[in-house]
Amino acid sequence: MANCPICKKSETVQAYRPFCSKRCADVDLHRWMGGHYAVPAVEPPDDFDTEIEQALAEQSSPDEFH
Ligand SMILES: [Zn+2]
Repeated sequence: MANCPICKKSETVQAYRPFCSKRCADVDLHRWMGGHYAVPAVEPPDDFDTEIEQALAEQSSPDEFH
């Protein structure tokens, strides 16, 4: 059984899983509403494409030297 992600208590209530209580569920909800959670699927970081291009370049460059 997973611990409550808010207060880390091990006793979670079935109705509020994965949280231990409505209070912790509300805390999580407010974090979402307040934008404290990153949402990379909607707004990727500015350097996301650069990192992909660098990774691809590092993979393909050895072949170019052969
Ligand atoms: Zn909790």
